[in-house]
Amino acid sequence: MSYIAPIIPENAPFTAAQRAWLNGWLAAYLGPAGAANAPASSIAPAAAPEAVEDFPWHDPSVALDERLRLAEGRAPARLLMAAMAQLDCGQCGYLCETYAEALASGAEKSLTRCVPGGKETARVLKELIEAPPVATRPASRQPSPPPGAEREGPAAQRREGEVGAGARGTAPARFDRALKLNRDGSEKDTRHVVFRLDRSDLAYEVGDSFGVHAANCPELVEAVIERLGGRGGDDVDCPDGTRCSLREALTLVCDIARPSDEAVEVLASRAPDQDESQRLQALAEGYPGAQPEDADLLDLLLAFPSARPPVQELVSALGVLQPRLYSIASSPKMVRGEVHLTVAAVRYEKHGRRRKGVASTFLAERAAPGAAVPAFIRRAHDFRLPPDHDAPIIMIGPGTGVAPFRAFLQERRAVGARGRNWLFFGDQHRASDFLYEAEFAAYHRDGLLAQLDLAFSRDQRERVYVQHRMRERSAELWSWLAEGAHLFICGAQAMARDVDAALAAIIARQGKMSLGAAKTYLATLARQQRYQRDVY
Ligand code: NAP
Repeated sequence: MSYIAPIIPENAPFTAAQRAWLNGWLAAYLGPAGAANAPASSIAPAAAPEAVEDFPWHDPSVALDERLRLAEGRAPARLLMAAMAQLDCGQCGYLCETYAEALASGAEKSLTRCVPGGKETARVLKELIEAPPVATRPASRQPSPPPGAEREGPAAQRREGEVGAGARGTAPARFDRALKLNRDGSEKDTRHVVFRLDRSDLAYEVGDSFGVHAANCPELVEAVIERLGGRGGDDVDCPDGTRCSLREALTLVCDIARPSDEAVEVLASRAPDQDESQRLQALAEGYPGAQPEDADLLDLLLAFPSARPPVQELVSALGVLQPRLYSIASSPKMVRGEVHLTVAAVRYEKHGRRRKGVASTFLAERAAPGAAVPAFIRRAHDFRLPPDHDAPIIMIGPGTGVAPFRAFLQERRAVGARGRNWLFFGDQHRASDFLYEAEFAAYHRDGLLAQLDLAFSRDQRERVYVQHRMRERSAELWSWLAEGAHLFICGAQAMARDVDAALAAIIARQGKMSLGAAKTYLATLARQQRYQRDVY
């Protein structure tokens, strides 16, 4: 596929999404020759044809506008992909690339499936889709639907590199325990979760992620059934094609935390109250300012009491509850027959109700010891320890981001790797939030961790983060990099973005180069698989 330079000038009166779409459309319509005939002032130098398509926007630490800019000139499916959060987290039921392709081909209609991208992604997807109708786009640039998209719902699609993603109801992993990692006085509830794999064929390597099919909270399910006026024991047809009781459908199959646009439309069409119907329709269409924001199904049933569709109609329109992925926190060489996770239980107030993250509170509160939980392994493609056991590694993982580094350290110990290990860890308070303190302190004492730098953000007036500690250790970081160290970052998006910026500043200063050259240095490290990130 060849890349065609942007045609619409940067200062043209369009939003980034509109400009990106128009550039893509014009590039497809005109082709390389046509693009070349556009006014010289508006055309950037033509780039060389690419042998293999790359996705330069596929980086969760890059801002949305910049991602769209990077996708300018590409086919509509690629522009749609650039609007996604780039996490490949699977919560939409696809990967960023395949969700975009399904939208572009029309196989998928819902624009609100990208959970980490939230409203911003949904708004840009809407803008991109509602630009000239998809049917008027040049046929040659129409992406092909993902394999199986027309036959099966997204949840039924397997992803490359998944192991054990079998049918719901299989029992490959046995939940064992979810121990509190925070001490008394903490504002957080982070759990060390253990699954037993004895009787399953799930096998993993450090760097991989563990996919969990969780169940919705039973109190929430009962409240929804009551508001709907349904009977929990009545059988319904589920959105994944199975048939079971309404209670089981709402507990195991349907996504009731984020009702699909189609479900909101069903509520709108069945609300006799005109005002409620219009407000629901505005919500379904993603109208800016439509309320209530981030509503779950119960919020909608409470806010719109006239909207009471037939239960089956609503259930059929709900999305399928998607599995959640967690970075694995153990090495199979160290904890045979088990997989460990580090999970932050998500709980917060919204619309006057206490809300819970589906999978994190399933693991922290509801899963019973010994319970069989459908699970699978997502293979890491680019988050792997260096094959050279002598290579030094630098790991930056505040909060739950420390999970894969616990696994890396276990692995390096198990294989007797001699490469030096350096960990930057941070969390709110040293007294209550130093996750795995005893283990890391022991590793530091016995030398497995050559360096351990800690940033407890709220132990002083000014917040202190891992990147502050990295700056303090600039000269040593630079010398480790010069000796061939591999760099790893794991954790939340904002942290990864700020740590990336700090790294560039450190490299520029220590390497006596411009910031641009430092970014190129980091990009080169990434190409050499020496700079890898697992961001959520
Ligand atoms: P966290 O509490 O968000 O952050 C850990 C530490 O990093 C805190 O000291 C925090 O400081 C600091 N920090 C905040 N912003 C930063 C920045 N820009 N740069 C550097 N450090 C920064 O970490 P967490 O416990 O891992 O939770 C992260 C979020 O991800 C949670 O909402 C969780 O639900 C979600 N999540 C977790 C998982 C999982 O459990 N594996 C998976 C997906 C999503 P301050 O808070 O004091 O500012």
